[in-house]
Amino acid sequence: MKKIAIIGGGLSGLYAATLLENNCSVTLFEARDRLGGRVYSVEGFDLGPSWIWPHQNRIIELIRSLGLNIFRQYRSGEALYETPQEIQRFNPAPNAPSGRIIEGLGALIDQLACRLVTTQINLGETVQMLVYNNDQILLTTNKDEYRFDHVIITLPPRLTLQSLRFDPPLPTKLQNHFASIPTWMGHSAKCVIEFETPFWREMGLSGFCFSHSGPMGEIHDACTYDRYALFGFIRSDTDMRTIELQVRQQLQRLFGETASPIIGFHCVDWRQEQFTSVKTDALPLSIHPNYGLECDYLNDKLTFIGTETSYHEGGYLEGALASTDKIRHLIT
Ligand SMILES: Cc1cc2nc3c(=O)[nH]c(=O)nc-3n(C[C@H](O)[C@H](O)[C@H](O)COP(=O)(O)OP(=O)(O)OC[C@H]3O[C@@H](n4cnc5c(N)ncnc54)[C@H](O)[C@@H]3O)c2cc1C
Repeated sequence: MKKIAIIGGGLSGLYAATLLENNCSVTLFEARDRLGGRVYSVEGFDLGPSWIWPHQNRIIELIRSLGLNIFRQYRSGEALYETPQEIQRFNPAPNAPSGRIIEGLGALIDQLACRLVTTQINLGETVQMLVYNNDQILLTTNKDEYRFDHVIITLPPRLTLQSLRFDPPLPTKLQNHFASIPTWMGHSAKCVIEFETPFWREMGLSGFCFSHSGPMGEIHDACTYDRYALFGFIRSDTDMRTIELQVRQQLQRLFGETASPIIGFHCVDWRQEQFTSVKTDALPLSIHPNYGLECDYLNDKLTFIGTETSYHEGGYLEGALASTDKIRHLIT
């Protein structure tokens, strides 16, 4: 049986393991002490991705096959538009309806991990170096050394470049290419605010707010089946040291006394996540990058997957799944 290492236990790494484990001996290395990577939910609230769109067939099929359900993002009612001078109510133009998983996307990761039978999952084990030697790859982590017939790297390309050493080294042209591929949402910070009641719905509001004042530039409804919340993307110019106080002040401006008490606050600054972003990712992107990666470095020994490597829906969860098409030749 081929010995295969998967570096990274985000959606692409976990899904790759499900595809391979019947035919290969699979070890998955995850640097964090949890699985999911950018998919991260706390108490059912998504601090990483939350939305799935109707044309994204792979992720929809996977969610359904794992017994999870998608519901429509709440959009009924008016939206708010905040500037330093005023707050206006408006009716936003309809856009493609997005869906969410009622238990939060973390449930998808939990279910995927539960389905793995033979894959060896090493949490808290950071891969540091790959050496090609005697037709195998010697992999060095913060804990040990291992030999594999094939290695699958799922890290965002910039992170691969910054955190993994290769012998022989990656060709300069490839290094430059990796450096040019932004980590999708690597510039973002997201917070979830939980309330006693969905008071905005009772005010005829959808929860959607666009703000020039911040700290949240964009706010959306984030209710789960029995809990009430809003989530916000934090503007990049925000002082994160006082983020909770600033969020409370903004909610006071937007909703006044009608807001019900805040009973929970969670925030992740993805710019600071060493196993997601590098420094250059902190710059906000003005357009969705043209993702996709062809790479022939140690071709039959090493495969690069992960959402940024996918030509189809690169950046999204759908792209993370689509990127695993690159490993199908290992299945037989
Ligand atoms: C705030 C936010 C909102 C988003 N919203 C959406 C959305 O609504 N819809 C959507 O489709 N997508 C969204 N995305 C993007 C989505 O999260 C990604 O497309 C997807 O999760 C990428 O999965 P991946 O497996 O390719 O990468 P990752 O999830 O980044 O997985 C890489 C894994 O490698 C691990 N790792 C890193 N370095 C090492 C190392 N040296 N050794 C071992 N392990 C290592 C990491 O810990 C991580 O688990 C959002 C992302 C963020 C951050």
